[in-house]
Amino acid sequence: MDLKTLWDKTLAEIELQVSKPNFLTWIKNSRLIEKNDSAGVVVVGVANSFAKEWIKDKHNKQLLEILRSFDETISRIDYVVLNQPDAIKKKVFSRQPVQQKENPRQVGLIDLAADPKTNLHPRYAFKNFVVGSSNEMAFAASSAITTEVGTKYNPLFVYGGTGLGKTHLIQAIGNEIVKRYKNRVRVKYVSSEKFVNDVVSAIRAKRMETMKQKYRDVDVLIIDDIQFIGGKAKSEEELFHTFNALYQNSKQIILSSDRPPSDVPVLEDRLRSRFEGGMIVDITHPDYEMKLAIIKNKTAEKGFDLGDEIAHCIASKLQRSVREIEGIISKLYFYKEFKGSDIDIKTAQEIINTATQQSTANINPSHVIKTVAQYFEISQADIINKSRRKEVVLPRQIIMFLLRDMLGMSYPNIGDKLGKRDHTTVIHSYEKIANKITTDKGLNQKIVMIKDLVNKNTS
Ligand code: ADP
Ligand code: MG
Repeated sequence: MDLKTLWDKTLAEIELQVSKPNFLTWIKNSRLIEKNDSAGVVVVGVANSFAKEWIKDKHNKQLLEILRSFDETISRIDYVVLNQPDAIKKKVFSRQPVQQKENPRQVGLIDLAADPKTNLHPRYAFKNFVVGSSNEMAFAASSAITTEVGTKYNPLFVYGGTGLGKTHLIQAIGNEIVKRYKNRVRVKYVSSEKFVNDVVSAIRAKRMETMKQKYRDVDVLIIDDIQFIGGKAKSEEELFHTFNALYQNSKQIILSSDRPPSDVPVLEDRLRSRFEGGMIVDITHPDYEMKLAIIKNKTAEKGFDLGDEIAHCIASKLQRSVREIEGIISKLYFYKEFKGSDIDIKTAQEIINTATQQSTANINPSHVIKTVAQYFEISQADIINKSRRKEVVLPRQIIMFLLRDMLGMSYPNIGDKLGKRDHTTVIHSYEKIANKITTDKGLNQKIVMIKDLVNKNTS
């Protein structure tokens, strides 16, 4: 069997074993370059160093098994980065990306300001973005974009709760593209508030043309927290036209939101369907291992070490977001500098406990009810009343679940709050949701987002 046939067959096989985006992003563009029969080693060329790490980490075993099913003499795969990714040759930019030497000191420089031209902040990089199960798809898609700008996943829509790394990730895409292609690519990052402000002041000053130009004369447009544009008619319209203009010219569009396009309230359908037409990826809450990795990473950036016990304590107590983890680390760091000595576990525990208690102390049942009603766009009265409409039943069950889960209220108490319902109904609802979120990813994501909103409403 020649190398090409062998690899084609292997690809056909692995394609069945991994998810489609995973396959397309990492594996498809690989090649079998060489086979050393005496050593039993094959060399596989992959698109970039991310792909290399990824495949080595996640798929090496599978690939080896498949290869060995065709040729038993193979005992190891070596991976190399193909020096010229196909995508770059054929698309958008005429020259090859500039290879820049990594500057290790770049990471962790917190005080640099955003670049006035791109609005990108240098602290947001791929290098200091910890990848784990909660964000690996989002990261995969993001890094794929940097080699196939505008043509691979367009638009890229990243969604997830607050403080989970959306801004970091989408700015890192921008920074990576600037690093690769230097000033041959114009990147622009804006928050959606800024976009809305620009539209409003352009209308007022009758300078729509300037505004249009500003947003259409770019190769990569990144808009953060797009949910805020929902319902602002003029801005939605402008965004729609900007979107089309960019999209038609294969310019890359990257959007973030705290929820999927389908859940952004009062978003015009035509805009929603544009957003849904590209790649949608979510970022969920980090699991324990990932939290540990983040803690290690963040403390190393600051040049100190908390030790395993304290790291474990943070990772197991803090559930809400990466931002919260950063907050605690800053506190501990501050404390250590202040005291001039290492922190013992007891002190650390106290600091962590105070911080986590504060975060739920000022949430009350009304916040929860109000937030859920807003999220599902139903009235609070409907929730309290006896309505059995489907649109109301699920939000009501979610409220019952959250009152128990977030506030630890008793079942009868919850029943009272919600129009004097029987406590057995509450128990039933609580258990139903608690079970369902372990299998229904969509519902789980919704609950996480609503929790974030509840927390946000109070702070
Ligand atoms: P969001 O935009 O989703 O609200 P951010 O991107 O602002 O969240 O992230 C909050 C903070 O947590 C930032 O300081 C960011 O650098 C950090 N952060 C989030 N996710 C990660 C990650 N996976 N690795 C490292 N830092 C992260
Ligand atoms: Mg953000």
